[in-house]
Amino acid sequence: MGSITLEHVNKTFGGHPVIPDVSLEIEDGEFVVFVGPSGCGKSTLLRLIAGLEDTTSGAIKLDGVDVTDKGPAHRGLAMVFQSYALYPHMTVRQNIAFPLKMANIDKAIAEQKVADAARVLNLTDYLDRKPRALSGGQRQRVAIGRAIVRQPKAFLFDEPLSNLDAALRVNMRIEITELHQQLKTTMVYVTHDQVEAMTMANRIVVLNAGRVEQFGTPLELYKSPANRFVAGFIGSPK
Ligand code: ADP
Ligand code: MG
Repeated sequence: MGSITLEHVNKTFGGHPVIPDVSLEIEDGEFVVFVGPSGCGKSTLLRLIAGLEDTTSGAIKLDGVDVTDKGPAHRGLAMVFQSYALYPHMTVRQNIAFPLKMANIDKAIAEQKVADAARVLNLTDYLDRKPRALSGGQRQRVAIGRAIVRQPKAFLFDEPLSNLDAALRVNMRIEITELHQQLKTTMVYVTHDQVEAMTMANRIVVLNAGRVEQFGTPLELYKSPANRFVAGFIGSPK
């Protein structure tokens, strides 16, 4: 289960409301993309969901349970960042197993979970390598593997592909979309890239200055953009 509800969420930094008032309902199992120009509040909104930032006002619910006052460790979500943040001295196997080791999970169970994650991510042949002996795309997959073994309610991605070159980015888009189809876990994915949003999302949240301009399927946004901003950003004919 992994529905995410935002009710009148406000985040104010130093008197400036970066997120004035956002209400959203992300359904269990959806792939939702937050898209919008740089500085519009995408990362802030994702960090609020993750519990890495406190809301100024409003409520956040996971599966209907209010988690507004809970820290990230108590939300059961996994955040995947653009920087790979892998441990360079550890093998792929040790990197993926790290959160399980921290949680004192039984070694045999941990090994099975690592093997399962490696299979899903096509990393089985690379488990004994160190991160420096991997490509950028493989490193990104290891970072995702570290999130998968925790079996989160939802994955939160903040521009995970922006360090990769264009060709690899296209491959990883497909891989993450396939991963979603396999795991069927809720994914919230932040990007400033309209093409990424249109090709990956079940539904897209278009953000502008911390406000939701439109929340709909790629086809809805393309065919019936709510306003000029959405039309311009998505590149639809309106
Ligand atoms: P995006 O991810 O869409 O590029 P961000 O969520 O990072 O946008 O930032 C939205 C706005 O909030 C920006 O104007 C940014 O400067 C501001 N902001 C983000 N984090 C902080 C912070 N910790 N303190 C003050 N201002 C912040
Ligand atoms: Mg950002």
